Amino acid sequence: MALQTKQEEFIFRSKLPDIYIPKHLPLHSYCFENISNVGSRPCLINGSTGEVHTYYDVELKARKVASGLNQLGIGKADVVLLLLPNTPEFVFVFLGASHIGAITTAANPFFTPAEIAKQAKGSNAKLIITQASYYDKVKDLASENNGVKIICIDSPPQDCLHFSELTKADEHDIPQVNISPDDVVALPYSSGTTGLPKGVMLTHKGLVTSVAQQVDGENPNLYFHSEDVILCVLPLFHIYSLNSVLLCGLRVGAAILIMQKFEIVSLLELIQKHKVSVMPIVPPIVLAISKSPDLHKYDLSSIRILKSGGAPLGKELEETVGAKFPNAKFGQGYGMTEAGPVLAMCLAFAKTPFDVKSGACGTVVRNAEMKIVDPETGASLPRNKPGEICIRGDQIMKGYINDPNATAATIDKEGWLHTGDIGLIDVDDELFIVDRLKELIKYKGFQVAPAELEALLLTHPNISDAAVVSMKDDQAGEVPVAFVVRSNGSNITEDEVKQFVSKQVVFYKRINRVFFIEAIPKAPSGKILRKNLREKLAADFSK
Ligand code: AMP
Repeated sequence: MALQTKQEEFIFRSKLPDIYIPKHLPLHSYCFENISNVGSRPCLINGSTGEVHTYYDVELKARKVASGLNQLGIGKADVVLLLLPNTPEFVFVFLGASHIGAITTAANPFFTPAEIAKQAKGSNAKLIITQASYYDKVKDLASENNGVKIICIDSPPQDCLHFSELTKADEHDIPQVNISPDDVVALPYSSGTTGLPKGVMLTHKGLVTSVAQQVDGENPNLYFHSEDVILCVLPLFHIYSLNSVLLCGLRVGAAILIMQKFEIVSLLELIQKHKVSVMPIVPPIVLAISKSPDLHKYDLSSIRILKSGGAPLGKELEETVGAKFPNAKFGQGYGMTEAGPVLAMCLAFAKTPFDVKSGACGTVVRNAEMKIVDPETGASLPRNKPGEICIRGDQIMKGYINDPNATAATIDKEGWLHTGDIGLIDVDDELFIVDRLKELIKYKGFQVAPAELEALLLTHPNISDAAVVSMKDDQAGEVPVAFVVRSNGSNITEDEVKQFVSKQVVFYKRINRVFFIEAIPKAPSGKILRKNLREKLAADFSK
């Protein structure tokens, strides 16, 4: 539905009616609001061990952890950093922290110590919860005499607390905390449209709204219902998985099958064994499914929904994989961490489904407004005209932590969040993403911030200037490549540049190619003209 306002604004809304959203509830209360209907049913299934935690177990563990966190001195607005793969403990801590008004920030366990330290310090984390195999990456953060504590969920090294310190606490000892809907509950990191990774403040109200937009209301079970078994293979440290898998799953009372890492054969085995019905995935997993020679060996008939998001998915791949699952609906969702994260979702999953066009990434969520603006003039554009996608609603972030300038550059005075993505909305209200205006590079759905790699490159004495842009890649979708200006007299090689970066970053931020040039093209303001570099890249490769 499009409304044209007096100021010639074209505002797009969902095809579905708005719904009631209980925004006053803290996130954990909202997730467990219907627990009496599902208490004894499986909530979390650990794919590695087969261990099952019922809804009652998970709710109780969350309260115990809340009490344990409080005893460790964690209180309202304190930050707990999770450095964990997908595990039940991740879930207990996230929900426990929500109980006491604390905030969870989760980092990729494959991060280097320096990358973790940036997030821990930037978010002012007071407690780090990890496992023994990652302890060495964080131990220095606790020895800096700043009161930071570390807990390991498995056999802890001598100077580290064990997770049982949290779970042995009395669940009745939770302090009375006044949680306001605008309090922050999750702090994922994202570079947004420009610059370095920043802490994205997602509030109780924001996440309740976002989950409700996906699974509540007049047209219930839009995505999931309580009979579903939802695959949780995407990392919970990313908001896609935290929100659209875990929180949505909890809200509807579904079973959530936790997988620690993606491996195609184990995935197929688990689908068959646990009769997985919903598969939220990302394009590289779609690709792996399309290439797997083992698909026919397994009974995958339980799958009713395949949902891809997090990065662009080619139309051909969508159609190839869709054809392999004739009984399932396959559609895309479109998210961005700062947007809470879901902006648009495929309505083929709705109880009364709408037809969905291949290549579309859904229609705008309910209780929200979307507009498409001309990036040059800011004018709002009608249907079928590509421009920057903007969204407004209670689900979007409160802002970036300690960064009012970056917040103001992303959310304008009228409350519109500017995504940095270019898209159009067609006559059937379907959103198509056609380009990306912002710097962000997405390697298999993981964020790579060019500014972070550029800052690193500039610390090398033989590099006088550098710029990083994305290059298309069949496997990863996109990879970072660097344009480098050598310092006077230096003859640093491509391999040396690559190794210098590799040692300091997680695997997906590694530079794929290095191009040496005389000067980095820049605007008079000093801003790197990335478009020129991307064009140069395309021209060089088409030769
Ligand atoms: P993140 O904050 O890590 O979720 O990354 C958000 C960005 O991923 C978006 O702003 C888009 O550039 C990209 N993205 C997410 N979903 C899609 C999709 N379905 N199609 C194309 N790009 C997407």
